[in-house]
Amino acid sequence: MQLKELKNQLNGFSIEDQLSKLVSLFPEKILFTTSLGIEDQVITHKIFSNNINVKVITLDTGRLFPQNYDVFSNTIIKYNKKINVYFPEYETIEKMVTEKGPFSFYKSIENRKECCRLRKVIPLNRALTGMKCWISGIRADQSDDRNQMDWLEYDAAKKLFKFYPLFNWSFNDVKNFIKENNVPYNSLHDKGFVSIGCEPCTRAVKPGEDFRDGRWWWENDGRKECGLHFK
Ligand code: SF4
Repeated sequence: MQLKELKNQLNGFSIEDQLSKLVSLFPEKILFTTSLGIEDQVITHKIFSNNINVKVITLDTGRLFPQNYDVFSNTIIKYNKKINVYFPEYETIEKMVTEKGPFSFYKSIENRKECCRLRKVIPLNRALTGMKCWISGIRADQSDDRNQMDWLEYDAAKKLFKFYPLFNWSFNDVKNFIKENNVPYNSLHDKGFVSIGCEPCTRAVKPGEDFRDGRWWWENDGRKECGLHFK
């Protein structure tokens, strides 16, 4: 199916209907990756509370905040559903940490990208193998790079469609939905954390700072992406 054709089929429908249509078009071949952040919790709620047959996975890098596990636990208890966990290949992490120490990512961008690749990108690619559609919680106003994306894309390298159900939502839309629907969320969001990744690479942002300023703040490059969504 062509991107334009799929766009026409999904355009104008509710997120629930869009997800259901994708399931009927690509049965067993749709993956939602959740970081357990607040946007992803909206999508998880929509999938789980409507019993939509999308595989939900999360990447456990081994460096997450304890609060991530709280929201993980609260979510599977509330919805009585499974979130599939993907870990990195332990040999590669053992080698990297043995050779470079536990904080190699602060020393250079190359080291940081290596760590993200081993802990996130490779496990993600394993999860995406054979999939036809990948859902994630990207919003346009999260960064300049993301603003140039579209709510539905085709990734020729990965050979799959990418669907961002919340692409046109504001951060306030997300927060209101979470509150109105009593969705579990990471308590760090109440302490100034907006984009929550690994503990050593995430901090709260101050008023006026950008959404991505809380990630890899020691790097000067404005394109703060871990490689999961970066083309
Ligand atoms: Fe490693 Fe930091 Fe990337 Fe996590 S966010 S994988 S700790 S460099």
